Amino acid sequence: MKDFEYFSPTTVEEALSLLSKYKKEGKIIAGGQSMLVVMRQGLIAPEYIIDIKGISALDYINYDQKDGLKIGALTTHRAIEKSPVLQKHFRVFSEMEVNLATIQTRNWGTIGGNLCHGDPAGDPALVFIALNAKLKLNRVGQERVVAMEEFSKDLLEVDLGADEMLTEIHVPIPKPYTGIAHEKLMVMQGDAGIVGAAVLITMGEGEDICENARIVISNAASVPWRAKEAENLLIGKRINDTLLDKAGEIAAAKSDPPSDVHGSAEYRREMIKVFVRRAGTKALERAKQG
Ligand SMILES: Cc1cc2nc3c(=O)[nH]c(=O)nc-3n(C[C@H](O)[C@H](O)[C@H](O)COP(=O)(O)OP(=O)(O)OC[C@H]3O[C@@H](n4cnc5c(N)ncnc54)[C@H](O)[C@@H]3O)c2cc1C
Repeated sequence: MKDFEYFSPTTVEEALSLLSKYKKEGKIIAGGQSMLVVMRQGLIAPEYIIDIKGISALDYINYDQKDGLKIGALTTHRAIEKSPVLQKHFRVFSEMEVNLATIQTRNWGTIGGNLCHGDPAGDPALVFIALNAKLKLNRVGQERVVAMEEFSKDLLEVDLGADEMLTEIHVPIPKPYTGIAHEKLMVMQGDAGIVGAAVLITMGEGEDICENARIVISNAASVPWRAKEAENLLIGKRINDTLLDKAGEIAAAKSDPPSDVHGSAEYRREMIKVFVRRAGTKALERAKQG
């Protein structure tokens, strides 16, 4: 690894000012769980490292029945997994986190770092996209909001300026009769997923008809990928096993998964069918419960 100068700001303002000063030669580190890997591989060699882990003001989970859920960028995976508030109102987050990496990585890795790394194999982005989450991005004197769905641009590339920092993720309150589930295929517990799927289903009130569906899949493209044709198949229909099977088939056919040591594209397509159906079945059960 190349030598670098190290800073450890304790406030957002201090971090943004360092980012503004060092722009392209500087890089944020949070938990370092992904960043150190790419540094060791020589893919990046920043001259200035801005360690934001000490900004305690960005470590929070706030829930409000009107405003929805707000998660600070420096909240760890483990805090999300164990949060009683999330277990009560958004249990899908605990279910997703318990299968993300090892306890060690979850203890130190942050949700902001996970999203900014831009890995199409990542799990949280699927759930956030399904829930229509928005990201708050700050630079000195400026703030903008980007839909999580539009944040990932390509493999390990996100819509983040060199002087910008992700500070918060906002999840709106889902409509009544909405269910969401996340399922993923791992060879070993703690491994990154081969494919994963988050499915959200909203049923029409007092009806048996699907009003809205969002299907988001990992490792199906160079970014977390929404299977819109499969969603359209479900919307306006009475969902049953046959329809969920068809949604999985359409998602698989339209996907463009990679082939690597963990699985061929063909195998991944087969698994997309299975995991869309599995997450869809669970989401439907939950939606029907209100
Ligand atoms: C063994 C192992 C298994 C894993 N398994 C999974 C898995 O199953 N599923 C999964 O989703 N992930 C998995 N991961 C990835 C892990 O979740 C991420 O590495 C971790 O969440 C990244 O967070 P971090 O705080 O360590 O980020 P860092 O490594 O510190 O940063 C990652 C990137 O984000 C940028 N960054 C960090 N925070 C911010 C911010 N607030 N604003 C702007 N840019 C920022 C950094 O500059 C860097 O480019 C695994 C990682 C390991 C090591």
